[in-house]
Parts: sequence; C-alpha cells; structure tokens
Amino acid sequence: MLEVLTIQDVKNMLIFVADKMIAQKHYLTEIDSAIGDGDHGIGMALGMQKVKDKLNKLENAESVYDVFTVAGKAMLMSMGGASGVIFGSLYLEGAKGMTIANQLNPSDLAAMERKSLTAIKERGKAQIGDKTMVDALEPAVTAMEENTEKGLLDMLRAAEMGAAQGVEDTKKYTAKFGRAKSLMERAVGHQDPGATSVYLIFQGMREYVESN
Ligand code: ADP
Ligand code: MG
Repeated sequence: MLEVLTIQDVKNMLIFVADKMIAQKHYLTEIDSAIGDGDHGIGMALGMQKVKDKLNKLENAESVYDVFTVAGKAMLMSMGGASGVIFGSLYLEGAKGMTIANQLNPSDLAAMERKSLTAIKERGKAQIGDKTMVDALEPAVTAMEENTEKGLLDMLRAAEMGAAQGVEDTKKYTAKFGRAKSLMERAVGHQDPGATSVYLIFQGMREYVESN
C-alpha cells in the first residue's frame, strides 16, 4: 500500500481513474438524461480519453503537479462547455502555483483538493445544496483534511465516503444551475451527474492506492 504518491504513481493513478470514468460513460449519461441533457458521460469519456493520451506521452515530468496540470488541461480543452472548465479545474487549479515536488503526501493531496474546490466555487458560484459536483467535492475535501494523519488509503476512503454521502444528498435538492434548474421540483429524487463523477474519481484514487 502506498504511503506517498511519486510522479509515476500520480501518472498511473490518473490513467487508472480515466479508464474507470470511460467505463462509466453510459451510467453517467443515464443519470444526466434524467435531469440534464444526457451528455455528461460522453463529455467525461472524451476528456478522460484525452487525459490518457496526454499522460501516456508525458515523459520526464519534473513535478507531481505537472502531471495534474497536463491532465487538467486535457480535460479543459476536450470536454467543452461548463463541465470542461469545472472538471478541468479539479486537476488544474489544485496544482497551480505549487512548488516543484517529486512526491505527494496525504496533506499535499488534501491541500490540492481544497484549492481546486475553492477555485471551482469561486468560478461557478455553486454552494452546497445547489445540486452540483460541489455537493460531493466539499465533503470529500473536508474528510481528507480531517484524516491526513491516517495515511493515504484511509484518507481516500474517508473522502470517498464523504463524496458518496454528498451524491446521496443531491437527490434531495432542486438545482440552481444547468438544465436541471428548469425542472425545479421534478429534479428531486435524482442524483446529480457531476457529483456522481466526483465520487467515482475519489473511488478510483482509493482503488488505485489500495491495489498498489
Ligand atoms: P452540461 O451541463 O454542459 O451538459 P455536463 O452534463 O457534462 O455539462 O455536466 C453537468 C454537471 O456539471 C452537473 O451535474 C453539475 O454537477 C456540474 N455543474 C454545472 N454547473 C456547475 C457550477 N456552476 N458549479 C459546479 N458544478 C456545476
Ligand atoms: Mg449535460
């Protein structure tokens, strides 16, 4: 089990996560079809395929943060629309301005995710309860911060559980953004697709750490 993530680990982990998200294309699209326009899985799969292409070609990265930056840019440029910016930021913003480092410890990863969350909330204006990916990301980040001393795996387990609860919570909410907004009360009972993706991304990171 990994205690820190090296540059190679980060690369492998993000490729692992990308494969997982590509495999969930139909599931995510189904969820988005219920309350959105049914393209979330398609956009996510496109973005994650680009992440794989770019990371597989990435050699001699100097810093763990470079790997996240390359992945985030790949998503930003290939997913398109609002969700490209939002999910690109998940990788990109956390890595911004960080000093070069050849590994990530649990606190580093938690700090990155906090920065990403802050940037996403600033840009997208969504708060907890607005039925967006923030509903999953915020509890995941808080859980990470509260569990850094437990090591990488247990920290990621806590994040995954926080995100899962966040996804569950989105079922209760009406939406303040996107197409789901126009559904008003009819969106209640349905989980948010973006929140579901956040959950799956954290689950993928946990699975990667657990199996290596
Ligand atoms: P689109 O809404 O352009 O069809 P997607 O279907 O790929 O894009 O993604 C929709 C997801 O994006 C939503 O489920 C929600 O989680 C997330 N989202 C939308 N607007 C915002 C926002 N302002 N802040 C954070 N997340 C958002
Ligand atoms: Mg959509």
